[in-house]
Amino acid sequence: MMNEELSRQIKAEALRLGFSACGVSPADAVDDIHRAAFLDWLGDGCQAGMDYMARNVEKRLDPRLLVEGAQSVISVALNYYPSRLIAKDEYQLAWYAYGEDYHTVMKEKLARLADYVTTLMPGCTGRAFCDTAPLLERYWAWRGGLGWIGRNTQLIIPRAGSAFFLGELVIDRPLACDSPMQSRCGTCTRCLTACPTGALRAPHRLDARLCLSYLTIEHRGDIPPQAAKHLGNSIYGCDRCQQACPWNRFTTPATETRLAPRADLLAMRRADWVALSPERYRTLFKGSAVKRAKYEGLMRNIAAAHQYKSSTK
Ligand code: SF4
Ligand code: SF4
Repeated sequence: MMNEELSRQIKAEALRLGFSACGVSPADAVDDIHRAAFLDWLGDGCQAGMDYMARNVEKRLDPRLLVEGAQSVISVALNYYPSRLIAKDEYQLAWYAYGEDYHTVMKEKLARLADYVTTLMPGCTGRAFCDTAPLLERYWAWRGGLGWIGRNTQLIIPRAGSAFFLGELVIDRPLACDSPMQSRCGTCTRCLTACPTGALRAPHRLDARLCLSYLTIEHRGDIPPQAAKHLGNSIYGCDRCQQACPWNRFTTPATETRLAPRADLLAMRRADWVALSPERYRTLFKGSAVKRAKYEGLMRNIAAAHQYKSSTK
């Protein structure tokens, strides 16, 4: 079968499996512009406490060092936009965290796509990734023609928005590749204006040290007051630079049932959060990505949001 036909069939199968987009790129080194931007971002310390970003740098910049004999990167996007949102005046979780842990869902779907790829190309080997290894996922999604990287650093899919998990299959076979997409941000700067902490220091430059998403999920220790005072209702993650993006007018609810909002989560009120016990936390977030912040981390966020809300009344 010709490479064009293989790529066409793989993309068709990806859509059949429930992915919203799929594209292919050659598994070579990250281009000079993105390499320089990544190294500059690291040099500036923008990764904050995510020390793993500064490890395996060369692997992150060349998938052939991650997967022996790698020739193609198949990128996929899975919609996570919730079908129902938490009421605006209640404490907020990032959209992606409303349902089951995306790692589990993406891993299972990628395994099914990998099975299909092996059926098409017997003997083909490779690895699946979803936020689990040093791979510049948004770069590969862009290279594979899924969308462009917006000024808010998110991958934006035309007429669909940015509420997508990304995943990849890196395989040892050549495929027909897609072309990278031109940016469609135009003259817009809404995401930069919407960021309350200045974490989006410039287009495409996100300083995690100031980012509420990083500070409420990855960061251990107190949230610095200059950022905490902007928490508002955010107690896990922050979507403000996504919500401000006009391309997210096109979001449609995720169809993957495992990513659907949990009813007990939608029912939580401010007082329930403040009184959250470790037992209730475990039930509420069983199999959820929110476990990443741990009980202590979530309660720290709730206390900080509560404190700054009270002090600004
Ligand atoms: S997630 Fe929030 S704090 Fe972080 S860059 Fe976006 S708007 Fe700013
Ligand atoms: S808000 Fe505007 S500048 Fe920012 S990512 Fe969206 S389109 Fe691009």
